[in-house]
Amino acid sequence: MIHIRSNAEIEIMRKSALMVSATHVEVAKMLRPGITTLSLDKMAEAFIRDNGGVPSFKGYHGFPASLCISVNEVVVHGFPSDYELKDGDIISVDCGVYMNGYHGDSAYTFAIGNVKPEVLRLLDITKQSVFKGVAQAHENNRVGDISYAVEYFTSKENPYGVVRELVGHGVGRQLHEDPQVPNFGRRGDGKRLKEGMVLAIEPMINLGTKDVYTLKDGWTVVTKDGKPSAHYEHTTAVRKNRGEPLSTFETIEAAEQANPELNSSYYAKAKPAVAAE
Ligand code: MG
Ligand code: MG
Repeated sequence: MIHIRSNAEIEIMRKSALMVSATHVEVAKMLRPGITTLSLDKMAEAFIRDNGGVPSFKGYHGFPASLCISVNEVVVHGFPSDYELKDGDIISVDCGVYMNGYHGDSAYTFAIGNVKPEVLRLLDITKQSVFKGVAQAHENNRVGDISYAVEYFTSKENPYGVVRELVGHGVGRQLHEDPQVPNFGRRGDGKRLKEGMVLAIEPMINLGTKDVYTLKDGWTVVTKDGKPSAHYEHTTAVRKNRGEPLSTFETIEAAEQANPELNSSYYAKAKPAVAAE
């Protein structure tokens, strides 16, 4: 069943989504070579609870942490660990917050220091692809219009692999609700979109091929070819003429630019292209 949220409910959901974004800002401030991914998770859990929220992921189907932290060839669902970040790594951070009865869900990939230009470009294109999907999240379109827009931009206009095993989703009182929102598909396919639906649009895009597999821990998804993967996600309200992100990247980008250990050069070019849409 696909839920339609009232404007009042969407405003409550915006608070959860913005708490996720605020958590990403705190992560962005901490990121540097030598820091462990577990320390990021501990900070995030404390930050979320101090602000009256509950980390959506902790204990979800047994997931052990508040953040999914996926470094380099890890696509999604990486466990925070004693791994120390190093110069040249990319780190995808996925976070969910439950507050006032509703979840927010958003992901962001950061570049630590001297990341290869081809990888920075993957981040740029993956981030832009979220907005390609968001632009299609309007009344009377179908889920397939979002899927197609993401797939076309990342794998036709650009040379990347679109992960198929994992998809976006409805979000609301449950972290994962109907409908599924794949990052590949055909225009006009799937469920019709109605104003008030709230969808997590979350492209997972690989530098190499689309193929992935899950490690023996049952969670960690990695690329088959060992090449890096990027992940950005917005909790998005379906509106009349276009989708409206309820989470934001703007505050994260500001924190990213303010942190000299992070490489944010990739989106300086990307931003006008997104805004011009
Ligand atoms: Mg997420
Ligand atoms: Mg999600």
